[in-house]
Amino acid sequence: MRRKIVAGNWKMNTTPVEGVELARDIVAGRNTVCEPVDFIVAPPFTHLSEVMKTVRGSGVAVAAQNCASEAKGAYTGEVSADMIASLGVEYVILGHSERRQYYGEDSGILNKKMRQALDNGLIPIYCVGEKLAEREKNEHFNIVKAQIEEVVFNLSGEQFRNIIIAYEPVWAIGTGKTATAEQAQEMHAHIRGILKGKFGDAAQETPILYGGSCNPSNAKELFFKEDVDGGLIGGASLKADDFLTIGRRF
Ligand code: 13P
Repeated sequence: MRRKIVAGNWKMNTTPVEGVELARDIVAGRNTVCEPVDFIVAPPFTHLSEVMKTVRGSGVAVAAQNCASEAKGAYTGEVSADMIASLGVEYVILGHSERRQYYGEDSGILNKKMRQALDNGLIPIYCVGEKLAEREKNEHFNIVKAQIEEVVFNLSGEQFRNIIIAYEPVWAIGTGKTATAEQAQEMHAHIRGILKGKFGDAAQETPILYGGSCNPSNAKELFFKEDVDGGLIGGASLKADDFLTIGRRF
């Protein structure tokens, strides 16, 4: 049985006060969700520490939204995986399309970030996904394959057991346009097939999350699919009720 996960990527939203309040509301509602689902929240760096304190002991885990590609030193403005892990944070989102698109993160950088994360005991939530033009040209399967091969294939078998994949079609992020459950399943099965080819049966255990306009109304259909193991939620993770409701959709 694969883990079921609902992760909230808060992106560049919430002040520290708002973030702690949101985390507190999620913790308060957590016990009303009966399904065996792991909740993860990913606040901005400025309130990782406070949110960690808020969720401690509640079963809600915390992710950073990014980490540096280097271990330490003269890298102004960067935050290392070691610094993040030292707060008790367990996860880090890497390869999000917004980082690929606006901050030029390519496979070279992402390989270094993955290594930093894993060396410091963080579990990477590695994001992949095609742009609209790529889907229209029917290149989506190859694009996602390359994003996996260029980064995930460089991991050892042991490291591979510690990662989560998130499929986020770029055209569905923040647009209100979700992939259909069939489109998601088709891609998730494709991803699992690629992972199986390289890592064998271990790929059966890899959680593959769907992200892109996932909300309380469409989550059930998506999560019902065999290879969709949960969601990476943007907008709908900023309201505790919506986020928790998504966790009830398995
Ligand atoms: P939305 O849920 O706002 O579309 O964002 C998805 C996302 O990018 C999560 O990482």
